[in-house]
Amino acid sequence: MLAQFDLAVVGAGIVGLAHALAAARRGLSVVVIDRDAQANGASIRNFGLVVVSGQEPGISRARAERTRAIWLDLAGEAGLDVLHRGKLVVARRAEALSVLEAFAATADGAECELLTPADVIARLPALRGAEIAGGLYSPHELRVESRDVLPKLTAFLAGQLGVEFRFGVAVTAIEPGAVVTSAGLVHAARVVVCPGDDLISLYPERIGQYGVRRCKLQMLRLANPGFQLGAALVSDLSLLRYEGYAALPEAAALRRRLENEQAGELANGVHLIVTQSADGSLVIGDSHHYGATPDPFGSEEVDRLILREFARLLPQVQPAVTARWTGTYSSASHAAFRDAPHEDVRLVMVTSGTGASTGFALGEETVAELFGF
Ligand SMILES: Cc1cc2nc3c(=O)[nH]c(=O)nc-3n(C[C@H](O)[C@H](O)[C@H](O)COP(=O)(O)OP(=O)(O)OC[C@H]3O[C@@H](n4cnc5c(N)ncnc54)[C@H](O)[C@@H]3O)c2cc1C
Repeated sequence: MLAQFDLAVVGAGIVGLAHALAAARRGLSVVVIDRDAQANGASIRNFGLVVVSGQEPGISRARAERTRAIWLDLAGEAGLDVLHRGKLVVARRAEALSVLEAFAATADGAECELLTPADVIARLPALRGAEIAGGLYSPHELRVESRDVLPKLTAFLAGQLGVEFRFGVAVTAIEPGAVVTSAGLVHAARVVVCPGDDLISLYPERIGQYGVRRCKLQMLRLANPGFQLGAALVSDLSLLRYEGYAALPEAAALRRRLENEQAGELANGVHLIVTQSADGSLVIGDSHHYGATPDPFGSEEVDRLILREFARLLPQVQPAVTARWTGTYSSASHAAFRDAPHEDVRLVMVTSGTGASTGFALGEETVAELFGF
């Protein structure tokens, strides 16, 4: 056990691990401290979808591209399985197709393929029977099983890169050159705080400046439907949730139509993402409800909205629900922020549902800022 580290990272979610990876790869000594016995937050509750197409153009998109490249490196190096690639966006309405056409005409959409209804069915025959105006195939997305990948990445960092982990240890304060924990002082020249959606324990006044709220999401696992998804699947509602689509002028007409036809879904922040696990089961979701302390209770009505959207897209299959859970993440009007409470300390928060998609790039940027390489 080292007495002095180059870097202490608070939080062993994907954002904390991303910082540990970037620092350890540059030869720095790193300790990661988390109050839970293992990562148990948003990072293991998510879809594990590394989303590139649809990220806000500019820094978010660039971070997603870099993060995707690092996931692919890790797949080889750390044996992390990429379960499927790409994303099929099914436009059920003409207005959604107009958004996809506009997106495909942008630089960020250049490598995507616009699809006719027949092309969409050819990519995923299980969609037969759905109302389909067209679609878009994005080749960029990756899907990992987060609940498996987080422990594997932790083991890789510890075993191959010498990162020390202190689980079951809460950080209560940061002092110059040291982190104050429930198990005593940990000495580190520099500190990165990646607290997920804990807005209170460390630097609450700094976090407060960014207008951060917490957001609760509902998720479900469905039994193996008997077909291979091949790529992540999303539909019209998702086009209002990702800035890369939602900020296009064409999205206004889609929003108006969805307000008329799917007001319940919009009121509950429901959209549909479908991903598939190694055993064939599907992970679907989600919803968005905001608050300082979101309640922990899943709403059956919200689950019904998610399942109804699934049935609209895949009318021929009705797999049983095998698990339900909620997750929470930090949310603000910008996708992420990096704050400097002290010259040797950084507070890094992903304030949108994109930590698995942008975290590795954020880690590299922070380490470069703190250590100058
Ligand atoms: C249901 C759901 C679906 C999502 N889907 C996707 C997706 O498909 N793709 C995507 O890119 N993003 C997705 N997201 C968002 C993504 O999961 C988050 O952005 C990301 O996990 C945030 O990672 P994190 O490490 O900051 O937070 P967390 O995973 O919450 O980890 C924070 C850690 O910090 C620890 N901690 C906090 N304070 C202290 C302290 N004082 N002392 C010690 N430990 C502390 C906590 O114990 C926790 O382990 C989803 C989120 C949810 C909830």
